[in-house]
Amino acid sequence: MADESYMAKKRSTPDPKAASASGPEPKWMKGAPPIPGPGLSVTPPPAILLGNDLHALETLDAVAERIRGSYCCTLCPKRTHAVPGEGNPHAKLVLVGEGPGATEDATGRPFVGQAGQLLDGILQAIELPREQVYITNIVKCRPPQNRKPQPEEVDACIPYLYRQLELIAPKVILALGGTAGESLLGVKKSLGELRNKVHEFNGIPLVVTYHPAALLRNPNWKKPTWDDVRIARQLLDR
Ligand code: URA
Repeated sequence: MADESYMAKKRSTPDPKAASASGPEPKWMKGAPPIPGPGLSVTPPPAILLGNDLHALETLDAVAERIRGSYCCTLCPKRTHAVPGEGNPHAKLVLVGEGPGATEDATGRPFVGQAGQLLDGILQAIELPREQVYITNIVKCRPPQNRKPQPEEVDACIPYLYRQLELIAPKVILALGGTAGESLLGVKKSLGELRNKVHEFNGIPLVVTYHPAALLRNPNWKKPTWDDVRIARQLLDR
């Protein structure tokens, strides 16, 4: 007859094969919040219905070339460089900011100033280095004095983002700041109302969090941001 105490011990001993299959819990997961409930769901018009020819651009490079080579609103003639976005064309995570700042305008690359350095640190902490994700903005040219883009500037530029998202087809979108969240979701709401929910953009889970530049001004927002980022990170593994 089987020894009951031996059987009980066997039942409670973790299967070493199962443990190694899933691996140890990553550091970023410690204390991470559970995935919150659903928020808004939006379906943007497919590129082919937008009355432009962006749907004919078959690669991210072609979209970038179009952005660099044309003007879509009054921000464009004032730029030093357009900033189409950069990263892995097959990224599972796309990060969307508001618009280029001074360093981005000078270099043509997104999030390379102080806010970008903070963002790099956040990405390292969730074990997703910058090269693995795609980073872009709502508007591709710098608004003067880093002001918020005006609604007509967003309307003129956002079809590029729609096409970029169609081409990348990421698993998750992380909107950095209220402008990115509101523009993607097509609503006027506070960041407090938009964060800590899993919205859907064209069927893709979308999480909204604080903009890294806001964290430089108010370090109290670092903890909620870290929570939001870990929600997005968990969604990637789902
Ligand atoms: N802020 C943004 O929203 N985007 C950038 O690329 C840089 C700073």
